[in-house]
Amino acid sequence: MINTTLCYVEQDGKYLMLHRVKKKNDLNHDKWIGIGGKFEKGESPEDCLLREAREETGLTLTSYRYRGIVTFVSGPDAEAEYMHLFTADGFEGALKVCDEGDLEWIEKEKLLELTLWEGDKIFLRLLDEDAPFFSLKLTYDGDRLAEAVLNGKPYDPSCHPKKKEPLLISGCLAGFACRYDGKRQELPDLDALAERYALLPLCPEQLGGLPTPRTPAECQNGGVWNRDGQDVTDAFRRGAEEVLTLCRKLGCTKALLKERSPSCGHGQIYDGTFSGTLIPGSGLTAALLEENGVTIYGESSWEALL
Ligand code: SF4
Repeated sequence: MINTTLCYVEQDGKYLMLHRVKKKNDLNHDKWIGIGGKFEKGESPEDCLLREAREETGLTLTSYRYRGIVTFVSGPDAEAEYMHLFTADGFEGALKVCDEGDLEWIEKEKLLELTLWEGDKIFLRLLDEDAPFFSLKLTYDGDRLAEAVLNGKPYDPSCHPKKKEPLLISGCLAGFACRYDGKRQELPDLDALAERYALLPLCPEQLGGLPTPRTPAECQNGGVWNRDGQDVTDAFRRGAEEVLTLCRKLGCTKALLKERSPSCGHGQIYDGTFSGTLIPGSGLTAALLEENGVTIYGESSWEALL
């Protein structure tokens, strides 16, 4: 019986992939796969996973999940291979050069553009959907996938639920009472957006550690001061960074934000005199997200998202 492990190490919405281009006579030559290999004597799946990760990448995995078993069959007389499939979202150490291929972090959305085995595409989709522990049997005829059986039944490609695109939305627009005055300002047509997008409601000022209700604040000279004259720039920056981290983790590239806010405002904000005067500019969160490639929509243009 041949037992192996395969692991996709993840970070910031990307998987660590190995482009197998270095070994001669490699069955996987030119394919992109995860990391892993054959069990050694006396090893459990976890022992093999940790050793292979260390040997191939130099990383020590600190957090991982056992996701399923993939049975490979490649001909009537060939011995079946049982591949124990893992994902890992915690590790220590630095990446080293791998002698089996080139290691590269690849955005999850772009994985299917790589040269992959047909069967790998099936279990990558199952991982992406966070499917419960599964058993997948893949029968190959040479390089061609002849049959796939998922949990004992013929695999049906239409079984995958359609994935909604993530959309960051200011918490107050999504109906949370997170405004400085403790009120909410829910968008009237939130349901239409929720039907199309996986909404991610966040309030950067709360994430930055500020209380609700709180003293109103406005931007001035690159910083943020509240109406009592306190410098609250650090909390606003912290909140902006937290939001960016979550956006990256979830692969969020669009944001619907509250207009004119010192955090969420985009293109126009109050001038720091607390007199209701507007000037060109953006709040700290909107500016940071935009710098990092997120497209910002104000609540008055929410229909452009449909
Ligand atoms: S920081 Fe943004 S989400 Fe939070 S209350 Fe202000 S506008 Fe709304």
